[in-house]
Amino acid sequence: PNASLVIANWKMNGNKALAKEMVTSLRDNHEQFQAVNVVVCPPFTLISDLTRECYYDDIAVGAQTVSEHESGAYTGEVSTSQLKEAGVSYVLVGHSERRQLFAESDEQINQKVKATLSANLKAVLCVGENKSQRDAGETWDVVSQQVKNALQGIAPESTGKIIVAYEPVWAIGTGETATPEQAQEVHEKLRALVVELFGEIGNKLPLLYGGSVKPGNAKELFSQKDIDGGLIGGASLKTDDFLSICQAA
Ligand code: 13P
Repeated sequence: PNASLVIANWKMNGNKALAKEMVTSLRDNHEQFQAVNVVVCPPFTLISDLTRECYYDDIAVGAQTVSEHESGAYTGEVSTSQLKEAGVSYVLVGHSERRQLFAESDEQINQKVKATLSANLKAVLCVGENKSQRDAGETWDVVSQQVKNALQGIAPESTGKIIVAYEPVWAIGTGETATPEQAQEVHEKLRALVVELFGEIGNKLPLLYGGSVKPGNAKELFSQKDIDGGLIGGASLKTDDFLSICQAA
């Protein structure tokens, strides 16, 4: 138990009832995981429900994506300043589903990271290889390239607002978790890479693991040296499961 950050990614799931139930239950049990920063990333429409409920709590609200543009004719998009006004403090950037299903490129992800940081929001950069890349032995090439491209041109003084989440695509929503050793192997390299990019302060940059994290495997994953927390999909939709994962951190 040395993990410090647990983030729920609801994806396109959840409703007002879940928002209320989740916040109530996190609040009622908060003494059990006081040292853990908990963030919930609901769909845009539920952000205000969550921020209203979270106002007096040590729970933060995040968005699942953001526009790289400041404002203007971008139908369907939401800007950093709009998120900020809604009470958001974290933004997921470059989730594999955004990359795959919405064709987000590394360049665009880099712009989104920059927009997020300049608005003084925390950016949770998501990276990870797919099954065929892993099978071909390309895991670190893919992951390191994604990190370098996404963080290109970012000043070291922004490092305190960056979080990197390693989410192997083959482990997302499949029930097939990376073993703690497989995850740690990538996290160790990620640690070295962020130190190379940003200097000593990279040692403090939170590195999260995501991909089929469940109450049953959270503790073992979180006890790995370079795993500072988790990004939780499916299990973050069940109050009891998400609480157990927060307690495991
Ligand atoms: P699952 O926990 O459902 O595998 O999803 C992980 C994820 O994509 C979190 O962003």
